[in-house]
Parts: sequence; C-alpha cells; structure tokens
Amino acid sequence: MSDMNRLCKNCTYFEAKGSECRRYAPRPVLLEEQKKIRWPSATPIGWCGEFSAKE
Ligand code: SF4
Repeated sequence: MSDMNRLCKNCTYFEAKGSECRRYAPRPVLLEEQKKIRWPSATPIGWCGEFSAKE
C-alpha cells in the first residue's frame, strides 16, 4: 500500500459513523468545558503511525 493510501479512511480502526479512531479505549477529554469519555476524533483523510490496513 502506498503512503498516499495510508489514511484513516483505509484503516481498520476508523469508525466512519462517528469519525472516531478506535485504536485504543475511550479516554477522558475536556470538551466544551465538560469532562466526557470519548474515542479520539479522526477524519477520513487524517493519518497516524498506528495505521493498520483494512483486510
Ligand atoms: S490511521 Fe491512526 S488515527 Fe487514523 S484511524 Fe488509524 S489508528 Fe486511528
């Protein structure tokens, strides 16, 4: 797979419905001054070093 395709939208951990990265468990975040537990947000064209190609 070329580097051009190593994007969140092609990653096994990307949850398109909520634009979330499911690589790790949800974690506490400060969102609009409220503490919540959430998965990190991810965009289809984002990327990171944890990429794993969908099968
Ligand atoms: S490329 Fe990284 S940030 Fe994007 S969905 Fe995969 S693990 Fe998450």
